Amino acid sequence: MQLIYEKSIPGRKGVKLPASDVPTAAPLPENLLRGEKAGLAEVSEMDLVRHFTNLSRRNFSVDTNFYPLGSCTMKYNAKVLENAAALFAPFHPMTALLPQGNDFCQGTLGMLYDLGQMLADITGMDEVTTQPLAGAHGEMTGIMLIAAYHKAKGNRKRYVLVPDSSHGTNPASAAMAGYEIITVPTAPYGDMDIELFKKAMNDEVAAVMMTCPNTLGLFNPHIKEISDIAHSHDALMYYDGANLNAIMGKVKPGDIGFDVIHVNLHKTFGTPHGGGGPGAGPVGVKKGLIPFLPCPRIVMDDDGRFGLETANPGSIGRTASFFGNFGVMVKAYAYIIMLGREGLIRASEQAVLNANYIKEKLKPWYDVPYDMTCMHECVFSASRQLKQGVHAIDIAKYLIDRGYHPPTVYFPLIVKEAIMIEPTETESKATLDAFIEVMIEAAKTAESNPQALLEAPLTMPIGRLDETKAAREQNVCCLV
Ligand SMILES: *Cc1c(COP(=O)(O)O)cnc(C)c1O
Repeated sequence: MQLIYEKSIPGRKGVKLPASDVPTAAPLPENLLRGEKAGLAEVSEMDLVRHFTNLSRRNFSVDTNFYPLGSCTMKYNAKVLENAAALFAPFHPMTALLPQGNDFCQGTLGMLYDLGQMLADITGMDEVTTQPLAGAHGEMTGIMLIAAYHKAKGNRKRYVLVPDSSHGTNPASAAMAGYEIITVPTAPYGDMDIELFKKAMNDEVAAVMMTCPNTLGLFNPHIKEISDIAHSHDALMYYDGANLNAIMGKVKPGDIGFDVIHVNLHKTFGTPHGGGGPGAGPVGVKKGLIPFLPCPRIVMDDDGRFGLETANPGSIGRTASFFGNFGVMVKAYAYIIMLGREGLIRASEQAVLNANYIKEKLKPWYDVPYDMTCMHECVFSASRQLKQGVHAIDIAKYLIDRGYHPPTVYFPLIVKEAIMIEPTETESKATLDAFIEVMIEAAKTAESNPQALLEAPLTMPIGRLDETKAAREQNVCCLV
């Protein structure tokens, strides 16, 4: 496909603007003036529409096909949620800064306040800040809160403890917040080894960061014991809420010993994502950490009026502007209201059912390194296929040819040739069955004609990329 610039023909126009009747006001200083015409593409309106429509048809999305990308919760996002976000567009919380002040945006502040309350209820926390802009940003905010908590108590703490199944952002966020990392291996039962955890725990551990269910899709049966041990060393429990879709309405992390949590609104609560955003990672905390929350906090007075509390001497400060990604908050709010308590519970139940269905159906064809009842996602290994020279990535590429987004591969790192499938609750049994058929076909092809998998994808504009080169030497203009 040509670049839009390659379609440019001098003098061709997409729009004709009337001559300006605005008198030239203060002319720009000479050094800011462009010497020559901007080198924009000169195309007709139709050329432009066709160009971008055709480009958009090369996108893969949940709206076009099944997207079982493990850990990312690529559920269908109802369009009505976008309408809700659009409704709120004129009432961005930034309007609190207008001369009319808070009077003008009581509804907006109230919506954010209510969203915080609902998220606090779902997670079992006491207060939520909506500022962080993504899960990883929430992690860093949460660890900074934990650091502030320990500092205020005069605690000397050096470490953050994470299981080796954790998402890479966990140790990265803890390191960014100034801690050293202790990594605890996973036991054959699929969770952080409890004995090794006990050995690793010490009084210099500031926090234990966990994902529960973890990245193998397994709920940790020792979680209460782990949090009791952590608390006995005055370490706080951090909950990576990326997998909240598995447990909404079933378990509140706050009830099983967690003190801080982030929630990936874009994964669990109705915002389309992929391609880098926008997302949101609100952070919930237990009472003891409220004094350190980012400012400003939205507070409600005795008359039910909302205001901003800006004077909070213990606060870690702002972690983002304007209460975070506001549009994402509106979508999460509308999503929660729309589903209600029963709907959220059913969403989680269906997500777990769908994952177990896929796991059982594919078990005869792919190795399952940790074979327990899973939560919202299941992790296979292509180790059997590897004997024929077929890697997880080859199966992923084959799925592209068959109209499916590949599952997450090579994560979690503790599973060799990992294939991590998260179907989500929004897919029908018919879709799951069709996907299962294609996965079985891939397994059969690995046996009968492995070479065919090594060449996939054959139906795409671009085949196999040199992925290292693509990451290191990005050139986003090279679409040919
Ligand atoms: C997605 C994810 C994160 C990071 O969240 P972002 O919103 O992408 O920053 C952290 N942990 C786990 C387990 C995840 O799946």
